[in-house]
Amino acid sequence: MAFTLEPLPYASDALEPHFDKATMEIHHDRHHQAYVTNLNNAIAGTEMEGHSLKELLANISKYPAPVRNNGGGHFNHDLFWNILSPNGGGEPASTLGAAIDETWGSLANFKDEFKKAAIGRFGSGWAWLCVNDQEKLFITSTPNQDNPLMDVADKKGIPVLGLDVWEHAYYLKFQNKRPDYIDSFWNLVDWEAVQKSYSNAKRVIPNA
Ligand code: MN
Repeated sequence: MAFTLEPLPYASDALEPHFDKATMEIHHDRHHQAYVTNLNNAIAGTEMEGHSLKELLANISKYPAPVRNNGGGHFNHDLFWNILSPNGGGEPASTLGAAIDETWGSLANFKDEFKKAAIGRFGSGWAWLCVNDQEKLFITSTPNQDNPLMDVADKKGIPVLGLDVWEHAYYLKFQNKRPDYIDSFWNLVDWEAVQKSYSNAKRVIPNA
């Protein structure tokens, strides 16, 4: 079954002034579309067509590099669009807010650690907030279009928040200033969406 590109869940200019319209259009309509197209081309006519994207990612070491790069690209961008909102920002509440405080002491400390991971990723990749198999939160980063669902990941878990640190995600507006892009990101994070992913992640962890 072929994968499809969903429209952005908001207008391409809805995240202004934090993320600009041109970047959002190019990022979604061209970059994300290319991952979907190339993923479909890579699995066409093979047994891989019979698997869900999460199944492919969980066993990605068995599959060709184009499936890893484009399957990761498709999953990662779907997650990214859906944790952003024109009404984002503020603070996490409920169980997620409590878990962040428990793990990092405060939201500010968590943001500092996440920023270090996002800045520290050399070249292209992603920074993640994830839930591990003990239901604990952790921060990690992955190269290229890898993610923590992949069996090849250094630290495996269920990602609930992700930040794209490829230059295509920020170069038009922020040029080389990745730290400014990361600071801007927090104005857009939809903590309710992240909370939903966090609650769902805890539900599917075997030990929960
Ligand atoms: Mn991207």
